[in-house]
Amino acid sequence: MKTPRTVYLDSNATTAMAPLALDAMLPFLTTDYANPSSSSLAGRHARNAVEKARTAVSQFLGAKPAELVFTSGATESNHTAILAALSISRGKRHLVTSQVEHPSILLLCQHLERLGIEVSYLPVDAEGRLDLDSLRTLLREDTALVSLMWANNETGVLFPIQEAAAIAHEAGALFHCDATQAVGKAVMGFAASGVDFLSCSAHKIHGPKGVGALCVRKGIELPPLFHGHQERGRRGGTENVAAIAGFGAAVGLLANVQDEICHLVRLRDQFENGLMAIMPCARIHGQAAQRLPNTSNIGFLALDGEELLYRLEQEGITAALGAACAAGGSKPSHVLTAMGFSETAILSSVRFSFSRLNHAEEVEYLLRSLGGILLDMMEMPLSSAAGSNLAVSCMT
Ligand code: PMP
Repeated sequence: MKTPRTVYLDSNATTAMAPLALDAMLPFLTTDYANPSSSSLAGRHARNAVEKARTAVSQFLGAKPAELVFTSGATESNHTAILAALSISRGKRHLVTSQVEHPSILLLCQHLERLGIEVSYLPVDAEGRLDLDSLRTLLREDTALVSLMWANNETGVLFPIQEAAAIAHEAGALFHCDATQAVGKAVMGFAASGVDFLSCSAHKIHGPKGVGALCVRKGIELPPLFHGHQERGRRGGTENVAAIAGFGAAVGLLANVQDEICHLVRLRDQFENGLMAIMPCARIHGQAAQRLPNTSNIGFLALDGEELLYRLEQEGITAALGAACAAGGSKPSHVLTAMGFSETAILSSVRFSFSRLNHAEEVEYLLRSLGGILLDMMEMPLSSAAGSNLAVSCMT
């Protein structure tokens, strides 16, 4: 069997752009450069491309085209939703979110706290699950917004968004969902979920970086983050036509989410079952929770996760130490911290995130490589492992 040269297993950080998405972009980066706000023929052509993409993305997300605002990505969508909710809920100065949200939510919340907004952070259990009763107890008369993610980027654990949105609404609060990791990997929809705002990003679904969307429920007047006439006054700035066209094309390739999920589940299960055979005491974070079909966040006992990643990289395999946004920083993952793990356990945890571009042979290669690396790192001679069905000792 041919050994794959590179195996990319960091798809929660970003995905490879689909060739069809690039094809859809190229004309708008070269010949068709007109401004979509221009009334010229060329401008109307660019406008058509933006509106075609709006229809495709909104349909995919289960929203109406008029409810969808193009942004520069999920970070901007998250900021817009939270700041808009505070602005339209006059007098309400309280937000609820969770301890395991993406930094684009948590760092904004910390900033808002410094400005006098009160923020309550919902805890999670050891599997990364949310307790809806805790949400009920945190809600107050002056809660402007509850912001919860659909799927966690580090563990893939899913939150019960529909139920949480209903609870927030009962208490008179708006609800925002960061669905960046759920799009294309979970059955989800804007209208059906009952949320008021929903954020997503193209580069997680084989589209380009620097473009995303915010769905805003019909009837909500969205105060813009950037003022200007574009996007019906809800997001100023000349539209990134090429990226928007690429986003529309990428969504078109996601037409059958159920097939996508089946493929990802097969890969993840092949990996996790294979890993358990090699190292029965490895911990699959969030295993008992509902989680994304593509994410395996594995605790390798007390082994050094960074060293493990480095060795995998030597074999052409890219994975991640927690989230891309946290990697490189010295702090252990806030998600695994909230789940109650020790610093040692967290620093031994590695995230493998699959996409539709991965296949079974790559997982086989990963397992073979991991088997060797783990044996080496646990200081067991490879020769003795060969006779012991590659089972790594878990006594350390
Ligand atoms: N939210 C989540 C859950 C994410 O995983 C990411 C990307 N890491 C973002 C928000 C930010 O997305 P973007 O890169 O489009 O700003």
